Amino acid sequence: MSANKNIVIIGAGAAGYFAAINTKLNYPEAQVTILEKSNKTLQKVKISGGGRCNVTHYCLDNALLSRNYPRGQKELQQAFHVFSVKDTIAWFKQQGVQLVKEHDNRMFPSSNNSQSIIDCFEQNIKKLGIKLWLNAEVQTIEKNSSHFDIQIKGKEKYYADYVIVTTGGYFQKEAYSFLSCLRINIVNPVPSLFTFNVANKEVCQLMGVSVAEVEVKISGTNYSHYGPILITHWGFSGPAVLVLSSKAAEFLYDCKYDFDIIINWTGKHHTDSLFQQLLQIKNKSNITIRSIYKEIQLPSRLIDFLLTKSGIDPHKKMAEISNKLLNSFCRIICENNYNIKGKTTFKEEFVTCGGVDLKEVNFKTMESKKIKGIYFAGEVLNIDGVTGGFNFQAAWTTAYIAAQLKEL
Ligand SMILES: Cc1cc2nc3c(=O)[nH]c(=O)nc-3n(C[C@H](O)[C@H](O)[C@H](O)COP(=O)(O)OP(=O)(O)OC[C@H]3O[C@@H](n4cnc5c(N)ncnc54)[C@H](O)[C@@H]3O)c2cc1C
Repeated sequence: MSANKNIVIIGAGAAGYFAAINTKLNYPEAQVTILEKSNKTLQKVKISGGGRCNVTHYCLDNALLSRNYPRGQKELQQAFHVFSVKDTIAWFKQQGVQLVKEHDNRMFPSSNNSQSIIDCFEQNIKKLGIKLWLNAEVQTIEKNSSHFDIQIKGKEKYYADYVIVTTGGYFQKEAYSFLSCLRINIVNPVPSLFTFNVANKEVCQLMGVSVAEVEVKISGTNYSHYGPILITHWGFSGPAVLVLSSKAAEFLYDCKYDFDIIINWTGKHHTDSLFQQLLQIKNKSNITIRSIYKEIQLPSRLIDFLLTKSGIDPHKKMAEISNKLLNSFCRIICENNYNIKGKTTFKEEFVTCGGVDLKEVNFKTMESKKIKGIYFAGEVLNIDGVTGGFNFQAAWTTAYIAAQLKEL
């Protein structure tokens, strides 16, 4: 690329700053400008991870890492070879920000404060002479032979040789309308990563009960997930539910968040195998039925609740319970149905499923396949990860590649 080119980054979030800094490092002679529609920058970085910013997830196997993205898995696996979690850790370390790993592999700045990431980015854009233009909402982008004309709301047109779009995710399709002149296909954006509101709140009396390994399935579909679950005062939360909401985001949107789930509280037992296990206990010992919570390692409050639901007095001896009733209790443990009506955002953290169609982007460069000179990074793409630092990692990786402004 020849010197003195005008490179415009649209959106001053995580992907925008990372793209701007790396672009300027790659092309020191170029004029790099960030256009931001609001009067603030890095808003999500600030509040992310409860104000601590879960910058990435310590997973050095790119194939494993990419499995955490219901949308973008295949494309990101390729992109992670260019900029991986290891590169993220090294990049921030070089800027003086040490990332530390927690027991569950989430990584945070050692200060435990998202301000460290913000300071690092702000200092870099000052030092590198990157222009930041606030209150500059991009309304249209037009391609004119060799350059782009960018219309900013209430302002004159802005000229760019290259554009990197990092405008993030929105649930309203109109938020992507500034791309319409370029005929870029937008996959319908819908929410991802949320918890389930149960219609009958009876189970909420168990609020605070968690189980380490359950299977949650969406009835009548192949969507399911194994993992920890937490019962809340509105329904179900925890990784099993959050990941499932992410996997089934489009389906759940289409059914207006009114659907049925089946929980297998044992994780992998079938009704029949559990029944055989309980029969053996019944034949050997004369314990009360509720004591089986120790044998099958489930919380006693949950067992009492499920027994009552099965019409069994939890204090009855095993021997007093008919095999038929014991079998229906096993069915309730392994195939426990709930109707879900509505969703609740998880700790205010939400991501968008949908956005710029991945089929139209070359992941070797992040350039549009249709229009040369325009690149995409971050959540504006139809990429979303589960909770745990994966969404930021996708932003760093795609922004790093886009910042190379490669043309194939
Ligand atoms: C509360 C919360 C907590 C989160 N916590 C984590 C976490 O700990 N770890 C993790 O990995 N992920 C987390 N996420 C998700 C993560 O924050 C996002 O995936 C990530 O910020 C996306 O970065 P981005 O730069 O693509 O988009 P954004 O951060 O959304 O930035 C886009 C920017 O573009 C601007 N913009 C939009 N349209 C225009 C326009 N037309 N013209 C000019 N500017 C425009 C917006 O104002 C915004 O500043 C969290 C999300 C939320 C909401």
